Amino acid sequence: MQLVFMGPPGAGKGTQAEWLADLLSVPHLSTGEMLRAAIEQQTEIGETAAGYLAAGKLVPDELIIGAVEIRLAQSDCANGFVLDGFPRTLPQATALDEMLDEKGAPLDLVLNLDVDEELLVQRLVARGRSDDKPDVIRQRFEVYRDQSEPLLEYYRKKAILKAIEGDGTREDVRQRIQETVGP
Ligand code: AMP
Repeated sequence: MQLVFMGPPGAGKGTQAEWLADLLSVPHLSTGEMLRAAIEQQTEIGETAAGYLAAGKLVPDELIIGAVEIRLAQSDCANGFVLDGFPRTLPQATALDEMLDEKGAPLDLVLNLDVDEELLVQRLVARGRSDDKPDVIRQRFEVYRDQSEPLLEYYRKKAILKAIEGDGTREDVRQRIQETVGP
C-alpha cells in the first residue's frame, strides 16, 4: 500500500500517519521529521533547511524531492509507505509520480484530513513546537492554501483522493481512517 497523508498544519496528520503505517506494517515517512533530524545533525541539507522551517516556508522542491527519492529507494519501502508532509507542491507531486512510475507501482491512495481552521490554530499553539509561534503558524497556513491545497484537485482528478473528517477524538479519526483504507 503506497499512501500519502495530507492535511493542513495541526490537523494531527503526523500522529495518524504514524499509527496507520504501523497498522499496514510499512514505514512512516515524515519529511518534516527528516528535515528536523537533518537540522539537529547539522548536515548540509539541515543547514539549508533551517531558515525555511523557522520562517514557516517550504524548503526548495529540489532539496526535498532528492531526499524523498533516496528514502523511497531503500528496501524497507519495497512493500509500501505512508508519506506524511510530502508532496506539498505540484512539482513535488509530479516528481513523486515519476519516481513511482519507474517502480511500476503508482500511488494507491491519498487521504486528506479535514479539520476546522479555528481548531487547528488552537491545537498548534498548544503543541508549542519552535515553528508553532502565531506569526509562523499564519505563514504555514498561507503556504498550505497557496501551494498544497491545489494538490487536492490534482489527486481528485486521478480519483485516488479520500477525505477523512478530522473532528472528534483521536480514536474517532482512527476509526474513520480504518474504514476508508479498508482491510
Ligand atoms: P511538518 O512537520 O510536515 O509540519 O513540516 C515542518 C516544516 O518542514 C514545514 O513547515 C516546511 O518548512 C518543511 N517541510 C516539510 N515537508 C516539506 C515538503 N514536502 N516541502 C517543503 N518543505 C517541507
